[in-house]
Amino acid sequence: AAEIQLIGVTKSYDARTTIIPPIDVSLRPGEFTVVLGPSGCGKSTLLQMIAGLERVSGGKIVIGGREVQDLEPKHRGCAMVFQNYALYPHMTVAENMAYSLKVAGVSKAERTERVATVAKMLGLADFLTRKPGQLSGGQRQRVAIGRAIIREPGVLLFDEPLSNLDAQLRHDMRVELAELHRRIGATSVFVTHDQVEAMTLADRILILNKGHIEQFDTPKAIYHNP
Ligand code: ADP
Ligand code: ADP
Repeated sequence: AAEIQLIGVTKSYDARTTIIPPIDVSLRPGEFTVVLGPSGCGKSTLLQMIAGLERVSGGKIVIGGREVQDLEPKHRGCAMVFQNYALYPHMTVAENMAYSLKVAGVSKAERTERVATVAKMLGLADFLTRKPGQLSGGQRQRVAIGRAIIREPGVLLFDEPLSNLDAQLRHDMRVELAELHRRIGATSVFVTHDQVEAMTLADRILILNKGHIEQFDTPKAIYHNP
């Protein structure tokens, strides 16, 4: 797992409005950080700058000791799970999960093995030949998670991945995600506006308010000294 450092990172989409004022924060290797805050406070923007889907307006992002703010997403060692799954609809579950490995030139034998391992971990072993349209919402989200972890990235980024699921499934997936994180140990950044998710998943919670870091501490410290 890789350390993530944000050093004086800022973001403006136009000259008049600053979405993120300069922020400095360091996320420890293997730590699960939940970024919490109301809609519009800049959570997604922050995550997308780490992923490389949005450019920083200023400052540096260092992942595993390497400055990445000018690198393309695929060279940053991050994998991202989106709220809307973003699966390839014409591909099977196995193909969805194996695709990035195939692009990276991983052999067929190893792809098969890694797909089988990840599918087992996520309870998808019986669904490998289905297409996303033949899956439930929870299964689709598991495929999206599988696709992200199959490359064993040092950094996992989650953009409200549970928001589209019903309450029971959200609960189950929270528990599963917490276990999964312990098993794979990537440095994880999870964006949500759901306090329960933050409490359940976070080693540390980063509370954003209009782009400012209002608090950055353990769930215990935050909820016992609000
Ligand atoms: P959150 O994830 O906390 O809901 P966002 O990071 O999506 O917040 O958005 C933060 C602010 O940036 C919002 O005011 C939003 O309108 C603005 N914003 C987001 N994306 C863009 C964009 N592509 N162009 C202009 N403004 C944007
Ligand atoms: P392709 O032949 O284009 O790689 P496949 O449909 O055979 O596509 O499978 C996609 C990927 O998923 C392959 O890389 C394969 O290794 C893996 N895969 C397919 N079926 C299974 C399975 N039942 N168990 C494990 N991995 C599988």
